[in-house]
Order: sequence, then C-alpha cells, then structure tokens
Amino acid sequence: MLTDTHTHLYSDAFDSDRDEMMQRAIDAGVTRFFIPAIDSTYADAMYTLEKEYPSQVHLMMGLHPTSVKDNYKEELAFVEQQFLKRKFVAVGEIGIDLYWDKSRLEMQKEAFKFQIQLAKKYKLPIVIHCRDAFDEVFEVLESEKGEGLFGIFHCFTGTIDQAKQAISYNMKLGIGGVVTFKNGKIDQFLNEISLDHIVLETDSPYLSPTPFRGKRNESSCLALINKKVAEIYGISEKEVADITTENSRKIFSI
Ligand SMILES: [Zn+2]
Repeated sequence: MLTDTHTHLYSDAFDSDRDEMMQRAIDAGVTRFFIPAIDSTYADAMYTLEKEYPSQVHLMMGLHPTSVKDNYKEELAFVEQQFLKRKFVAVGEIGIDLYWDKSRLEMQKEAFKFQIQLAKKYKLPIVIHCRDAFDEVFEVLESEKGEGLFGIFHCFTGTIDQAKQAISYNMKLGIGGVVTFKNGKIDQFLNEISLDHIVLETDSPYLSPTPFRGKRNESSCLALINKKVAEIYGISEKEVADITTENSRKIFSI
C-alpha cells in the first residue's frame, strides 16, 4: 500500500479522465491520497473530489504562498471559516515562494505565520511549500518551533544540512519526482537520513518522475518514486511503502 501525501487530484488537468486516472493509481497500489489546497477558487472542486472518493481522499485547507495577493486577508478569512465548518487533515499547503515574486515576502510571511497558528489551534500538521526561500521559511519555523509544530516539508529539494534542519522542526521530508532526476541532487545523500523522516508524494499534476519528466503527472507514478527510494536505501519496495505509509499515518492521524 502506497500513500501519496501531496496530490492535486482536483486539478482541471484531470477533468477529462479523472476516474481512469484514479483507477490507474489504485491498480498501482496507491490507495491513500492527501490533497493540498491552493486558494478559495479551488474549494468546490476539492469538495466534489471528496464526495466522489470519500474513503481514499483526505483534504487539507490553506492558502498557497503564490496565491498570497492583495486580497490575502479575505483568503485567510475564507480558510478560517472552512475550519469552523468542517474537519481537515492538515493546514496546507502554506509557506514562502520567492521564485515567482519576491515583492510579496512580508505578506507571505504573515500568511504563513497566521496559518501555523491555525494549525496549532486545531492540533493539525502543516504542509510546507518552500521555493527559493529556505532561509525565510526556516526563520519562521524557528520563531514557531516547539510543541504543536509538526508536519511535512513538501517537495524537499534542499541539501543534507537543510534536511536535518527541517527535521529538527518536527518536519518529515516529502520526497517526489525530483529524486528520480539526473540532476536532482537529493538522491546523493537521502540514505543518510533515516527513512522514519520520509514520506512520498507526486505533487500531481506537476513534477513527473523520470521517464515522464515534463508530462502530466498522476498519482500512479508514486510507484516509480517508491522504487527509486528503495534503490537509494538498498531495501525492498514493500519496506519503503510500509514505512512511508506508517509515517503518513503518524502525521495525519488517518
Ligand atoms: Zn502542491
């Protein structure tokens, strides 16, 4: 059994063949899907997905850093309201992204901190998106560390020192398609990190693993990521699947 801890299955990239795509994933052994939010414009699509696959799909709620725009206060109010209405498994994805736009750093930090507080209030994990912003994300985590702070550093692509620092804040490392890339770098040191700190993810429809790099990604490709991680650690694919699924249970309590 494999667990995709980060997959945007509600994306319109799957509108034409979502049922077939889900079946391919289930046939590949992927039966648990954790669904990160982006902003309020995707909420209906997420709730529809959950209705269609109630036993396999688990929703998060949050405001993605690239959706932190001038209306971010309204968006954060929307997130807060959703938590008052119903349950989610995590606050995510949240964090800092300086790849697309550096001018909104302060806004992104404020939104990140606000949502960490929300996670602490509901005793939930956070799922972090970090792009070109390790120092800034670590600065926020340093100020929020301690009891109540835990979660996943999604799509981890940093150095071994950054991996250790993320783990020191009670974060698991979300390992995805990048681990299969020739120049992905994390494959060089990953086996120095205990598998107890690793969860697997596809980030579908983005970041397809080799040999599908550049094409639409889907959760069935998690099997390729699992295979590569098993090679890196020199253990069986079943062991990696079991341990990373167990890690996901600990984080999400499901
Ligand atoms: Zn994502």
